[in-house]
Order: sequence, then C-alpha cells, then structure tokens
Amino acid sequence: MILAHLPSGYLLGRSFGQRRGRLLLAAMIGAGLPDLDMIWFALVNSQVHHHRFWPHIPAVWAGIALVALPLARWLRPDWLAPLAMGFAGILLHLILDTSAGSILWLWPVSDHLYSIVTVPATQSHWVLSFLLHWSFLPELAICGAALYLFLHGKAPADTFRKPPS
Ligand SMILES: [Zn+2]
Repeated sequence: MILAHLPSGYLLGRSFGQRRGRLLLAAMIGAGLPDLDMIWFALVNSQVHHHRFWPHIPAVWAGIALVALPLARWLRPDWLAPLAMGFAGILLHLILDTSAGSILWLWPVSDHLYSIVTVPATQSHWVLSFLLHWSFLPELAICGAALYLFLHGKAPADTFRKPPS
C-alpha cells in the first residue's frame, strides 16, 4: 500500500465516531507508523525489503502492546484508549500491506512474507508497477472514501441526533 495508510487511519477513527481529537489522531498515527522504517531503508539499508524491519512485524507490535496497554491502564488510564486506537491503526496498516505487499505474519516461527496479491514488475520502477496494477484500485477507493467523509461526513452522533421538536 502506497497512499492509503493515513486515509485508512482516518476511516478507522471515524468508524469509532471520532470527528476529531485524540482517538482520531492516534488511529492516523498508528496507521502510518510502520512506514517510518522507510527512512532506515532509504538512508541505511536498502538491500533488505523494509517489510522485514521490526516496524512491519506483527509479533513485535503484539509484544509491545502486551506491555504498553497494561502499563497505560495502571499508570495513565487516560492514555489507554488512544494507545489502543494507535495499535488498532498499526494492525490495520499491516493488514492493508498484506494485500499487495508482504508481511511476516508468522515471524519468529517463519521467515515467509505473506501477501494476498503479487504485483509483477511490469514497469521500469516498482512504484509504477504498483500504480498500474488492479490492486491499486482499492487503495484509491480508501483515499476517496476518506476524502468524501472528511469533506461531507458527519460524526455518527450528529447523524443520529434527533431533530429538535
Ligand atoms: Zn507499510
């Protein structure tokens, strides 16, 4: 997935009735966070697929969540919901990356990168191959839905509020 991570985080936050605020922000940060390893990929190690770096490994995030969520509940209960939303955004990122990318879902048991669709290298650059493959259409749909919701959508609380009588 190339463009739709932040929009997917926006849709995740909105699906919990958040039009703005900490939970929506946490969903968007979580949905984009694993791709920060692109900085390491670009500057330090471009020989290894960045989906093999720890920010793209579900077991690593599960371990972090197993420590961070109980700590937050104990020390800062007001952080628990945003933190949980952030981890939900990370999980969404990894699921979406599985569509046409690849994720180490069974690491450390297996080093196999799992993906639903394999995008063949039909163009001179891998980004062009992804942009021109049919699997890019759902990504455009996510971006379009998020943009539409941002411009026209009301929060569910607004939608279902009874009109004044
Ligand atoms: Zn990613």
